[in-house]
Amino acid sequence: MTDCIIIGSGLAGISAALTLKANGKNFLLFGKKQLSDKIVKAESIRNYPGLFNVSGQAFCEALQSQLKKEEIEIKTEKVSGVYAMKEKFTVTTQEGGMYESASVILACGVESVKPIEGEIEFLGRGVSYCATCDGFLYKNKKLGVICTNGEMEHEVEYLAELASEVYLVALYKNVTIKKDNVTVIKKMPRKIVGEKRVESMSFASAPTETLPADLPIDGVFILKDSAPPSVLVGGLETENGLVKVGVGMATNIVGCYAAGDCTGRPYQYTKAAGEGNIAAHSVTEYLRNLQK
Ligand SMILES: Cc1cc2nc3c(=O)[nH]c(=O)nc-3n(C[C@H](O)[C@H](O)[C@H](O)COP(=O)(O)OP(=O)(O)OC[C@H]3O[C@@H](n4cnc5c(N)ncnc54)[C@H](O)[C@@H]3O)c2cc1C
Repeated sequence: MTDCIIIGSGLAGISAALTLKANGKNFLLFGKKQLSDKIVKAESIRNYPGLFNVSGQAFCEALQSQLKKEEIEIKTEKVSGVYAMKEKFTVTTQEGGMYESASVILACGVESVKPIEGEIEFLGRGVSYCATCDGFLYKNKKLGVICTNGEMEHEVEYLAELASEVYLVALYKNVTIKKDNVTVIKKMPRKIVGEKRVESMSFASAPTETLPADLPIDGVFILKDSAPPSVLVGGLETENGLVKVGVGMATNIVGCYAAGDCTGRPYQYTKAAGEGNIAAHSVTEYLRNLQK
């Protein structure tokens, strides 16, 4: 069992990892090799102390080099669930991993795509965020897939191998997937509709020449970098999708802390780094108290 699991490799997660390392704790850092789109895609950063007019790409490389020197590896698995047990947490990943830790730091950022109407309502009743976890439920069925990032196209391919039809709402450029049963749609649905379960995706107007505005489907996968924190962690207190934190970045769940954009505005690198640092110190103190 590790001392801590950090979810997210943006500024908040990296800052927490560097501080935990300095405090001699063992931990796992989940995220991406490219750290965060919100770092890489910044054109010019001018308000980070010590750096002036640095590109997101250069900032990312500097952070990667720092992590390497500190021998901090990023586990490139996507966390699908955090389960609080007595004095420990079990963390599962979409890749099938299961890990245990004494504490958790949520540093998962905020979603750039707001949930659409029906998304949260039908979660677990036809709406899923995880292709590898739930894809098998839709063998030979019709699926909607809303994909926010080209990096996740392999998940769409996996779903297309199982489903009879896939209607792919591609919210990214350069769609490369070519499969007979995949229809690419470039319009966002207004809502997900159903009674007990998902029955259709509803568009403001017909999404293509041949498809109806109310498109019948058996389920819809919403593939995005981060699921809402309240979906990730059962029982977590949130407000308007943001994690509620108190002193020391503590959430309402004992041993679970949060930092960065996921705790609210302002959405800034320095705030994320500062909160990651505070959360890591809180974890260190929490672990000390556990051992007493
Ligand atoms: C184009 C752009 C330019 C910007 N420019 C500036 C600027 O100049 N100055 C400034 O101060 N701020 C700027 N910002 C804002 C800044 O990027 C954010 O405030 C900051 O990145 C937040 O850091 P974070 O660590 O909280 O979240 P993020 O950087 O969003 O990182 C979250 C990480 O968590 C990962 N993650 C999420 N869920 C999971 C999961 N379930 N499992 C595993 N990993 C997960 C994500 O993949 C991501 O890597 C800019 C933002 C954008 C989009």
